[in-house]
Amino acid sequence: MACRCEALPGSNREPTKEQDAGTVRILSTSEPGWDMTYELVCASCARRYTVRQTDGPATQWKWVPHGLKRRRGEV
Ligand SMILES: [Zn+2]
Repeated sequence: MACRCEALPGSNREPTKEQDAGTVRILSTSEPGWDMTYELVCASCARRYTVRQTDGPATQWKWVPHGLKRRRGEV
């Protein structure tokens, strides 16, 4: 069964809000700034993610699961 964290990659969700919602826990972050990186772990399945925050017309968050190859058909 899919964990709710599996919907995060490609969702552009804000890591701090996901932590507030209890979906993930933030393990560490890079130096705070507009472009920074979060290391997170899912609170349910313990899967780990790296999130790259990039600034632009709107702030974007790119969720990358650790140790998983991208499945066929996924964007
Ligand atoms: Zn999970």
